[in-house]
Amino acid sequence: MYDLLLKGGRIVDGSGMPGYNGDVGIADGQIADIGRLNSNAKRTIQVDGLAVAPGFIDPHTHLDAQLFWDPLGTSSCFHGVTSVIVGNCGLSLAPAKAEDRDALVKSFVRVEAISRRVLEEGIQWKWTSTAEYLSALGARLGVNAAALVGHIAVRHYVMGEDAVERQATAEEVAKMKQLVRQGMEAGAVGFSTNQNPRHIREDRKPVASRVANDEELGALLDVLGEMNSGVVQLSGGGADARGRIAYAAGMARRTGRPVLWQSISHSWSRPDHWREMLAHTERVFKEQGLPIYAMTQAKPFQNRYTLRDAQCFDEFPTWKTALFSPLEVRKQMFADAAVRKKLRAEAIEDRSPSVFPRRWDVIYVDAVKLAKNKPQEQKSIQDIAAAQGKDGLDCFLDISLEEDLETRFVHTNTQGDPQAVCEILKHPAVMIGQSDAGAHMAYDARFGYSTAFLGCWVRDHGIMPLEEAVSKLTFHVASVFGLNDRGLLRRGMAADIAIFDPATVNTREPEYVKDLPGNETRMIQKATGVPYTVVNGQVVIDNGAPTGVLPGKVLRPRPWRH
Ligand SMILES: [Zn+2]
Repeated sequence: MYDLLLKGGRIVDGSGMPGYNGDVGIADGQIADIGRLNSNAKRTIQVDGLAVAPGFIDPHTHLDAQLFWDPLGTSSCFHGVTSVIVGNCGLSLAPAKAEDRDALVKSFVRVEAISRRVLEEGIQWKWTSTAEYLSALGARLGVNAAALVGHIAVRHYVMGEDAVERQATAEEVAKMKQLVRQGMEAGAVGFSTNQNPRHIREDRKPVASRVANDEELGALLDVLGEMNSGVVQLSGGGADARGRIAYAAGMARRTGRPVLWQSISHSWSRPDHWREMLAHTERVFKEQGLPIYAMTQAKPFQNRYTLRDAQCFDEFPTWKTALFSPLEVRKQMFADAAVRKKLRAEAIEDRSPSVFPRRWDVIYVDAVKLAKNKPQEQKSIQDIAAAQGKDGLDCFLDISLEEDLETRFVHTNTQGDPQAVCEILKHPAVMIGQSDAGAHMAYDARFGYSTAFLGCWVRDHGIMPLEEAVSKLTFHVASVFGLNDRGLLRRGMAADIAIFDPATVNTREPEYVKDLPGNETRMIQKATGVPYTVVNGQVVIDNGAPTGVLPGKVLRPRPWRH
């Protein structure tokens, strides 16, 4: 007798082998049998015409805090995601002593744009060590979660606020190494660091990991090498692609561990840069055999912002000063012709590489405040400026000032060119899924990287067979992270299953909901064509809606014991 029987689906098992018709029998949270099955089951779901695949594993989320108040990790679970990795970009909530908690909050607030109020109301700090964090997390989970140890937390634990001011002593580095080792022994899946020059805290100080020198970082990574366990996750930055790839390759060479680096994507300010990055990554992989994987996104990053709250100008000094100034000062600055001249020079006229697109034709008015401006919604700044006979920057600032800085704008930072995205997604050294789930909630919702990939790219653009696509979302990720009982449909494997309709699977448009701690607003994103999500043998999403069961576990790879 099975607990659950999935009958009549097309089994796409995660290996990349051709899909076939068959049934999947589940008992005790595991896959008991695959084939033509006739035993009884407590529940049978007829899944004719649907693909039955391993649950998707989201390798890059910031759900570290959210999972405590939202154990399903909504909206990830609606998109067939059954496991999420937290602790990315150097940011984890452990290890943390009581006096370091605020330093971590300060970092999360600015880097991941999760509001202070949400974090203060949503986290009940019951842990100091990574082991304690993992057991607190595992107490109530709907999806599975695995955690990286974050460099920022480790540094604050040992150095306090000095972590954002100075380099570490040899003694401090030794203590940090011990924390990383303890975290790995407690079941972490690796170590993350953040060297992104744009990543600052709420108080404008650099995040702690950026203050570390290469010697410290190398020493911490050696722990993974010594244990032969875990991945290195690198949130990079800087304009020099070759330098960044060489940096990632150096880490892989030093540790023998897989390195996930960020990221290859198309950007408007350097439309051919992705080609160079892809070619260089391929060379490192092929010629040196080093397992470095570039992360990429299946969804463009849509940046929705007002000039009351925007981070997309942080790379430009005058903009940054204005956006960190009190509202009245900020408005005066935006109205001042001399300041505008500087703003224009930094954001538009300067042609050096930037995340900001530097062109008004891809920046749109998303929502206005005043009725008289309604006709401008969904028009580009370039078009509005042309109609008004104005310069783009003047048009942009004038409309915002007129609406007391409440006009909402939207632009795509990355992945705006479909042809480039196809080439990037297809590459074997690219890992899909920079969803950043749980972060940047006010600006965008990209929970649906998996459904966007399967719907938009695999079906509509036909970039690869469905089997290969599923393998990229499951077996590849499980293999890199050492989650050896996930990512494949095989007898004895954990019964994490995504059930979707290849003909209709897709993301829906993000929507605003008010469901955060402190009654704050965020963007969520639902899916079409994903009727069921099964975690550890239990149906968590049934006909698109949560069932309320919480079968998730903390996933801890088991190191080899000699
Ligand atoms: Zn991140």
